[in-house]
Amino acid sequence: MLPDAASKPLGIFGGTFDPVHFGHLRLAEEAADLFGLQGVRWIPAGRPALRDTPRLGPRQRLDMVRLAIAGNPRFELDPAEVDTPGTSYTVPTLERLRQPDACGAERPLVLLLGNDAFASLAGWRRWRSLFELAHVAVAHRPGYPVDPERLPPELAAAFRRRLCPDPGQLASAPAGRVISFAMTPLDISATRIRALLAKGASPRYLMPDSVIAHIREHRFYTEN
Ligand code: ATP
Repeated sequence: MLPDAASKPLGIFGGTFDPVHFGHLRLAEEAADLFGLQGVRWIPAGRPALRDTPRLGPRQRLDMVRLAIAGNPRFELDPAEVDTPGTSYTVPTLERLRQPDACGAERPLVLLLGNDAFASLAGWRRWRSLFELAHVAVAHRPGYPVDPERLPPELAAAFRRRLCPDPGQLASAPAGRVISFAMTPLDISATRIRALLAKGASPRYLMPDSVIAHIREHRFYTEN
C-alpha cells in the first residue's frame, strides 16, 4: 500500500542561504523525487553556530528563500529559527518538529545536507542525537569527496553503521539511517555569488532571477 501524504517522509533543509542559489534548489528538488518526500521544509538558520556572522540578517535571508521557493508546491518555509533569539542549532529544531502538534514521533524526517556540511557534523552541538530524530541524506557536492576515511572516526563509524543503500527504506522508520546520494553536480556556492556581486559581475543562471532582482533592489552584497 502506498503511504498517505501525512505519513510520507518530510525533507528538512537548513542552511544559511546567504544567498540561496540553484545548488540548494536542485538538492531539495532531487531529494524530493529520490526519497518520495511529501515535501521539503526549508529552515533558514537565524544565527548559525559554526561560521562567521552571515553577510545578511536572518529576515533578509528568509525573504530571499521565500522568493526562491515561491510556486513550488513541494516546498515550504519554516521561519522558526529566524524568529528564535540566540544561536540556531539543528537538534532543538528537530525536537520541535517531533512535538505532537508538529510532525509527531512517527513521521519519517529526512535531514538534507551537502557533503561538506556532513563532514563537519561531529562539530555540531549534540550531533549524535540527530540520528534519533531524523534520517540524514547527504548530497554529493563538487569539490567535497564522499570518503568515510576522511571523516572523524566516530562520525565515520556512525556513517558506516547507519548507511542504507535503498532510498525507499527511509519511509519505513522515523529516523536513524544515513544515505548518500548523487545529484546534478552544480559547483555553485553562496561565497562565490557574494564575490561576483561585490565586483559588479552577474550571478545570472546561478540563482533565480527573482532573487537577483531583490538583491539589486536592496543593494545587497555590494561590498566584499
Ligand atoms: P557559503 O558559500 O556561504 O558557505 P553555501 O553555498 O555552502 O554557502 P549554505 O547555505 O551554507 O550554502 O548551504 C546549505 C546546505 O546546502 C548545506 O548542507 C550545503 O552543503 C548545501 N549546498 C550548498 N550548495 C550546494 C551545492 N552547490 N551542491 C550541493 N549541496 C550544496
